[in-house]
Amino acid sequence: MQLITTVEEMAARREEWRAAGKTVGLVPTMGYLHQGHLSLAERSRQENDLTVASIFVNPLQFGPKEDFGRYPRDLDRDLKLLESVGVAAVFHPEPSEMYPPGFDASVEVGGITGVLEGAARPGHFKGVTTVVAKLFNIVGARRAYFGQKDAQQVAVLRKMVRDLNFPLQLVVCPTMREPDGLAMSSRNVYLSPEERQAAPALYRALQAAAQLWQERPDERSGPALRAAMENVLAGVPLGKADYVSAADPLTLQEYAGAVPPGQGALLSMAVRFGSTRLIDNMPLEGAG
Ligand code: AMP
Repeated sequence: MQLITTVEEMAARREEWRAAGKTVGLVPTMGYLHQGHLSLAERSRQENDLTVASIFVNPLQFGPKEDFGRYPRDLDRDLKLLESVGVAAVFHPEPSEMYPPGFDASVEVGGITGVLEGAARPGHFKGVTTVVAKLFNIVGARRAYFGQKDAQQVAVLRKMVRDLNFPLQLVVCPTMREPDGLAMSSRNVYLSPEERQAAPALYRALQAAAQLWQERPDERSGPALRAAMENVLAGVPLGKADYVSAADPLTLQEYAGAVPPGQGALLSMAVRFGSTRLIDNMPLEGAG
């Protein structure tokens, strides 16, 4: 497995692989890897000749009061894990390599970036789309792999790829969970033992709303779905909800009343445990 730290070297590999007719899959990450990340790399390995994983804690997507400085990092462990799943190369640039002096461009998607995570974290998605656009150009992958765990990020990146004609396919992989339902996340290490014990409430809340959706298809409504989730979270005093959402899966607008027949819904939430902010979501199919 190659460790590549400069744009120039990554571009040289890209051109070699292109000339050799190899298909490349890209797995962008911020490192401190868990099975969720590795499931993306494994899927890419099945579908491409070569897989490139990037490890880059992107300063642009963190707000001034967020956890950029203390975001967990363990490069040696990450490299061993990526090698064990057959990744061909790891792109791990310094921030100064991605954003050299004079860097002054950005990529921004409108509309759906104004709600949910975008409303709670101003500038976050502009940072994400800017870095992902750079990674797409630098790596030259045919396919790029992202987790359903970050549902709004997937929706925003889909729009970026479509609207700006990026010549690659975006592949979305299911959320990997701990045995008790907690979605795997690099940020789970911040949780105290008590918080860790309470954190599966996010998944239980999603399941409660999903059960309502399945069992009472005639009563599917935004308020009922949100109430089902809020009820579960209310029983967990350690967690404070930032938002609880039942939205149109395409526009991400909240369902104010009944869900139109046949339409799906995206359930999502952000909950704070102390200074740790966890997100989770569950897409619901209209027909089901
Ligand atoms: P991050 O390192 O948190 O930026 O995540 C990198 C990629 O891994 C993103 O596409 C995430 O959606 C994905 N990811 C993170 N956690 C999970 C998970 N529990 N299951 C599946 N994919 C995940």
